[in-house]
Amino acid sequence: TSVLLAAAFLSTAAIQAQKSPQDMDRFIDALMKKMTVEEKIGQLNLPVSGEIVTGQAQNSDVAKKIEQGLVGGLLNLKGVEKIRDVQKLAIEKSRLGIPLIFGMDVVHGYETIFPIPLGLSCSWDMEAIRKSARVAAIEASADGISWTFSPMVDISRDPRWGRVSEGNGEDPFLGGAIAKAMVSGYQGIDLNNQLKRNDEIMACVKHFALYGAGEAGRDYNTVDMSRNRMFNEYMYPYQAAVDAGVGSVMASFNEIDGIPATANKWLMTDVLRKQWGFDGFVVTDFTGISEMIAHGIGDLQTVSARALNAGVDMDMVSEGFTGTIKKSIDEGKISMETLDKACRRILEAKYKLGLFDNPYKYCDLKRPKRDIFTKEHRDAARKIAGESFVLLKNDKSGSSANPTLPLKKEGTVAVIGPLANTRSNMPGTWSVAARLNDYPSVYEGLKEMMKGKVNITYAKGSNLISDAAYEERATMFGRSLNRDNRTDKEMLDEALKVAANADVIIAALGESSEMSGESSSRTNLALPDVQRTLLEALLKTGKPVVLTLFTGRPLTLTWEQEHVPAILNVWFGGSEAAYAIGDVLFGDVNPSGKLTMTFPKNVGQIPLFYNHKNTGRPLLEGKWFEKFRSNYLDVDNDPLYPFGYGLSYTNFQYSDITLSAPTMGQDGSVTAMVTVTNTGKYDGAEVVQLYIRDLVGSITRPVKELKGFDKIFLKAGESKTVSFKITPELLRFYDYELNYVAEPGDFDIMIGGNSQSVKTTHLSLK
Ligand code: BGC
Repeated sequence: TSVLLAAAFLSTAAIQAQKSPQDMDRFIDALMKKMTVEEKIGQLNLPVSGEIVTGQAQNSDVAKKIEQGLVGGLLNLKGVEKIRDVQKLAIEKSRLGIPLIFGMDVVHGYETIFPIPLGLSCSWDMEAIRKSARVAAIEASADGISWTFSPMVDISRDPRWGRVSEGNGEDPFLGGAIAKAMVSGYQGIDLNNQLKRNDEIMACVKHFALYGAGEAGRDYNTVDMSRNRMFNEYMYPYQAAVDAGVGSVMASFNEIDGIPATANKWLMTDVLRKQWGFDGFVVTDFTGISEMIAHGIGDLQTVSARALNAGVDMDMVSEGFTGTIKKSIDEGKISMETLDKACRRILEAKYKLGLFDNPYKYCDLKRPKRDIFTKEHRDAARKIAGESFVLLKNDKSGSSANPTLPLKKEGTVAVIGPLANTRSNMPGTWSVAARLNDYPSVYEGLKEMMKGKVNITYAKGSNLISDAAYEERATMFGRSLNRDNRTDKEMLDEALKVAANADVIIAALGESSEMSGESSSRTNLALPDVQRTLLEALLKTGKPVVLTLFTGRPLTLTWEQEHVPAILNVWFGGSEAAYAIGDVLFGDVNPSGKLTMTFPKNVGQIPLFYNHKNTGRPLLEGKWFEKFRSNYLDVDNDPLYPFGYGLSYTNFQYSDITLSAPTMGQDGSVTAMVTVTNTGKYDGAEVVQLYIRDLVGSITRPVKELKGFDKIFLKAGESKTVSFKITPELLRFYDYELNYVAEPGDFDIMIGGNSQSVKTTHLSLK
């Protein structure tokens, strides 16, 4: 029988594999012939689902529209039974029975939550990042979801912007690698092959484009930049996702060059489709179409027509397409061909997802129990959470000769701070499907892990922020820190009592999970006042203090760097964060995370990023006019912690770089090699980083750019040689005419453990 079964399976797989692009075209041609204009427009409509009660989908607000064939998909509806019921309406009650797609913001996990993307990026571990997306796809698909609004790949250099937490930091090369890893984690190797599996989902790269470059770090704000900067510094991650076969793209809220992205034909058609060859569909962001009325480029009919004519296919929430497209076609403002194209792209996505073969493919009611929040998934999340933490400082504490971390598994450890015991804040921003009350807080997790070994005690110590109205604004999705009604003094006194009985203090401070994320920009990036007061008081006890910092963005930590012996940045580490924090603080895991976004010394330095250009005045030293430099009077131009920075419990030493040849021809490549030695007492991982500087160009070039990285594991005392292949391809950039070229000339090749401390050698391209 097993042979027969295998044969049967093989033949089904073979039949599915035989479905060619021509089969798809034929199928969709035939379907579209039957569709009315209204039904075609319906496919472009992605409304909010509103309240849907399990078992009563037919009574919901969207039911009527679905039955009339006026809906293409729904967003952020949770629960496989509800989704199955709604799908049933589309299949059984609408005239043509076209299946819906169900999208959700599955951004860093589903119910098993991984670190926020900024944290994930600090692991520099592409396989682990791919795996996180894979696990998210398994869980989401088990609950009815076929489409995720992820990865978010917006480059940003402005930590005032709250959504830096959802992206991968400031570097386009790393961002591109992560975009690829995420897309392949969600979609599998090839979206066109999806017919075979029901645990892979379609990805949606967002927010196209340049959403991370809003003026002054204010969310949704205007973007205006040169094409040169766009292509050399911001566009690569979106393009990398397209190259990886991403099924859909989301338009960003911001305007670019005076035209909102959602109506920007140059962006959506010339760049995305013609230049990059994207063949999936484009969806707007939430109310992206109707927001263009406020942008001031027309009424709902005008902006809807502009969006469709620009190359946008699906309307999220505005219902501008369903409301006006028919009229615009009748008035000759939109051609039937344009509507057909958009409709076809959405039907193609559904076809590739296998929904025409089986609309209930993602509705297997047995799967949630089997596939969601499993031990295997949680173990994976715990492991990568440990990899995402960045050790910012680890000094010698008190009179002992040892660094503060790792902590010994003995005595009494007090966990103190407003972030020490709050479950709902563990997963971080954009975790729609999170089980907010099920993830252990730091205090709870450490207590469980250290049972019988370490006495773990707790005090809240302070509220999040003294200003109650600010705190209220910072918890807009209800992940409250339960504001304490005691006075600041009462809370502090209690904390000091708990601290007095402890050997070590873990200060769990920082932002709440909703102080970063959408619509959570900030101008003051220091620790909130009451928390700083608490920290100062804890330091005055003279006991070793480990600042365990929760944050969704770089904060300004100049004072903390000077005064606190150890700082571990834990971002928002997800459902298993508490255990991962225990793993690292107590030395079972050696921290290896490296920053992917520069930490400035103060807000006035922003934007501060490692791959900047030079001014004409860096070389004035010793000249009588040397004061006339591009500096500030009150602070220098260095960051507090540079891009690529992060400490370990061990030390890594780098040899000089050797090159396989000093020059390269246009068709050749050169290998750069460095030997890294673990000279400390602990085994550990190191992210070896390659930077290149193009010394002379036809346009000005950055002082360095990341062009390679390798995460290696070294036992104490062990050495490894790391090599990077440098090809002319790696040296290419967009010149003034936006040609993608590698110009002959001289290059600095730099390799090191962060962007500031590198070994350097020279290479020329003939
Ligand atoms: C966000 C998107 C998200 C969408 C759907 C918007 O407000 O900008 O990132 O995918 O909502 O929830």
